[in-house]
Amino acid sequence: MPLPIAHGLIGASLVAASRKGFTLRRDGWPVMFGMLLGMAPDLDLFLSWGLGFGTKVHGGFSHSLVIALAAGAGLSIILKETSISRVLAYMAAAASHGLLDACTKKEFGGSAILWPFSNQKYKLGIFSNYEFYPNPASQTWREMLDQAARIGLQEFLFVMPLFLLIVAGQMIAQRSRNSAAEVTRSERSGKDTE
Ligand SMILES: [Zn+2]
Repeated sequence: MPLPIAHGLIGASLVAASRKGFTLRRDGWPVMFGMLLGMAPDLDLFLSWGLGFGTKVHGGFSHSLVIALAAGAGLSIILKETSISRVLAYMAAAASHGLLDACTKKEFGGSAILWPFSNQKYKLGIFSNYEFYPNPASQTWREMLDQAARIGLQEFLFVMPLFLLIVAGQMIAQRSRNSAAEVTRSERSGKDTE
């Protein structure tokens, strides 16, 4: 699985890209919620590790597109969000998790993106660079943490530039809108005083 870093940054990027008139002050929280939606499906690890249901539970229902749509809609209702594009962005942030997992699995795991219609865990089966299956029975904590840190760093270097690019692009776009509005305002006030 990609670690929460990649999932969170992709969820945050999708929400950041959907906000018109983006400012960090106004959109910081929504972007944070996008990050949490992107990470949330892996809470099923609590069932696997915490409650002892085993790793087979992981990648199941919480990774489904139906649950993603419901999670995005639920958060939008809580936040009283009425803009369709913003609601869709929350849904996409949640859905990106299962899809990304499916794309980055080769031999093991996969994600049940079609649950409840199918329990099959889909995987693209092409590359597995980010697969991380810690096994406390055969690995020491140090080995597991080392592996998590190595994969986490790879993910960060890969996905962080995308997130920064979107946020920077949004801020530049907003700045140019502001200065265009300023020019129009000053032209108007110039005409009024003529
Ligand atoms: Zn996952």
